[in-house]
Amino acid sequence: MTETDLCRDEREEMVEFQIRARGVRDQRVLAAMRKIPRHLFVPKGFERAAYEDRPLPIGEGQTISQPYIVAVMTEQLELKPQDRVLEIGTGSGYQAALLVELAGTVISVERLRDLADRAQQNLARAGVTGVRVVVGDGTQGYSPEAPYNAIIVTAASPDIPGPLIEQLAEGGRLIAPVGPRDCQDLIKLVKREGRVEKIPLGGVCFVPLIGQFGWRGEGYP
Ligand code: SAH
Repeated sequence: MTETDLCRDEREEMVEFQIRARGVRDQRVLAAMRKIPRHLFVPKGFERAAYEDRPLPIGEGQTISQPYIVAVMTEQLELKPQDRVLEIGTGSGYQAALLVELAGTVISVERLRDLADRAQQNLARAGVTGVRVVVGDGTQGYSPEAPYNAIIVTAASPDIPGPLIEQLAEGGRLIAPVGPRDCQDLIKLVKREGRVEKIPLGGVCFVPLIGQFGWRGEGYP
């Protein structure tokens, strides 16, 4: 048995009781979450906790999100196999691994080089290929590969960074936590005929998005 095969039962229970039971029904999302070995994306010693109903520390003061929140955000992106996806906040690489399972191209931008390196190691260990990790300020998006059919921001900012809205394709979906420092509203933005519609999806608590179009520094704002 490879380390990727471990924790199948824990993963199955996570999907059944934390995710499906709370209303996430997209079969492709559920299948991806059954498949991706979340325990390979958490620090050593946290492997079992990887399947608990909560976020976990991943170093540098950052966290891997609660599985249910990851599922909701992924479902709301409405990914199709050919989609180009931009993630801001690679963190552990877990969300990126799910995205590449569901879409064609995934670019993930991480501000902290150490985390970006570790995410790449995690993805390799999990046998996930096709995620391009870029070190930089994701509040500026990543214009060389724009436009994107879907953009997911996994850190919170006072407003949705303008460059991300610009880099969203026609018909594109963007999901981001928006609001004050501690807890925020999860916002889904859809671009149609050049106009944007915003749909609130509920309350969440994310680590800060730090950069030119987010919070300004470690000490905020
Ligand atoms: N999606 C991740 C969790 C992200 S935690 C996962 O699946 O594990 C939020 C991440 O956003 C942190 O790693 C943090 O360093 C990063 N971050 C914060 N500001 C950023 C910015 N401006 N650009 C890119 N990444 C940023």
